[in-house]
Amino acid sequence: MSEEKTKTALLRENLMNEPKTVKDLFAEEIAQADAFCEGYKTFLNASPVEREAVAYTTAAAQAAGFTAYDPAAAYQPGDKVYIVNRDKAIALAVIGKNGVKNGARLAIAHIDSPRIDLKPNPLYESNHLALFKTHYYGGLKKYQWTAIPLTLHGVIVKLDGTRVEVKWGDEADESCFCVTDLLPHLAQEQVTKPMAKAFTGEDLNVLVGSRPYADAEDDKELVKLNVMSILHEKYGITEGDFLSAELCLVPSFKAKDIGFDRSMIGGYGHDDKVCAYPALMAALDAKDVENTCVTYLTDKEEIGSDGNTGMQSDFLRYFIYDLAKQDGVEGYRALSQSTCLSADVNAAFDPTYAAAFEAKNSCYLGNGVVISKYTGHGGKYDTSDASAEYMGAVRALLENNHIQWQIGELGRVDLGGGGTIAKYVANMNVDVIDLGVPVLSMHAPFEIVSKTDVYMAYRAFYEFFMQ
Ligand code: MN
Ligand code: MN
Repeated sequence: MSEEKTKTALLRENLMNEPKTVKDLFAEEIAQADAFCEGYKTFLNASPVEREAVAYTTAAAQAAGFTAYDPAAAYQPGDKVYIVNRDKAIALAVIGKNGVKNGARLAIAHIDSPRIDLKPNPLYESNHLALFKTHYYGGLKKYQWTAIPLTLHGVIVKLDGTRVEVKWGDEADESCFCVTDLLPHLAQEQVTKPMAKAFTGEDLNVLVGSRPYADAEDDKELVKLNVMSILHEKYGITEGDFLSAELCLVPSFKAKDIGFDRSMIGGYGHDDKVCAYPALMAALDAKDVENTCVTYLTDKEEIGSDGNTGMQSDFLRYFIYDLAKQDGVEGYRALSQSTCLSADVNAAFDPTYAAAFEAKNSCYLGNGVVISKYTGHGGKYDTSDASAEYMGAVRALLENNHIQWQIGELGRVDLGGGGTIAKYVANMNVDVIDLGVPVLSMHAPFEIVSKTDVYMAYRAFYEFFMQ
């Protein structure tokens, strides 16, 4: 027996916008998402720091037939190239039938994540404990980084120019490191302080040893000496080599499925590998594209996108200029006609912290890929506010391809805010909008995403390239 809809119900259906939710997903999409996310977890585990993400991406690109970009070569539609910037950023391009004559299609994510970096003079001994002094990287709630296992990743460049790769603490049988915290019994003073004062940046000291060097003739800093002796044996370095190093402490735990239903993934560095991986896979899968498609994975977003490997660097601009030169068009004209999805995460509505969000304009875990028309703070400062026209085009692209999506502002107005690389892309006269994956516990050592949202991000980047 079919139920007749009332006139009011019909009118409501026609006029009111009812956003899709997790209930609207098909079983087939959920199965595809689960399969897609197995690859994502592998990428995430292999890429805690940007150099590792670049190495993984380079290998994946080569395996998919991409070759290192040569500005002197003549590329044909369908050719696939990659270009690496200082081992910390990478662009993948699939050459389109029109090249970049009508602009490029850009998907840009960042592959750096909040973490703890070593200071130039890190190693010291105090009360027979060896510790590292650190300077945190990106926006951290510092207490979250205490009393969890940490692993050391990075590079050291020795005086003779040789580069040593450091990776210590990932394997189950390997030792790791830790920032200590004060026991609750003695924390009555600490717990009454505002959070920003209860634990300061200078308190993020990392415990790295406690045994003195054996067979010593004196007793001067023997625990520190023992640590240096172990490092010298393993990496051939001396203490001075810390001065020319990039060493990062990141959580040593691996990505895990979350929930009895395994619908989510917990892991370190979802922001923004959870957008980088779908954008990478879209570039690997894109074929017979009209306009040249570029996935660009950039560095330094978490500290303002400054520096020659960040989005404010001219690296991507120069690459587009090189592509334009081959097509016989001016680089600035190619850029001016380009469109971009700034692939970054947004804060998912958290029912435990509902007061931080405005429910009607927040994104929700599981409701699909999130579009943020603007980010910024306090009256839309420091953001690129996408035009209605470009928002309209992206909305139509998602709707027409049945990609589950939602809009999302970053929390309540005037509560804080944040930015993405979108504004730096917009400054190159490119149409750009933020499109990415909702995240719970953003910037925590263990962030959470929904598997179906990750998959919808992939589908969005893929259809954006293929349009
Ligand atoms: Mn981000
Ligand atoms: Mn971030």
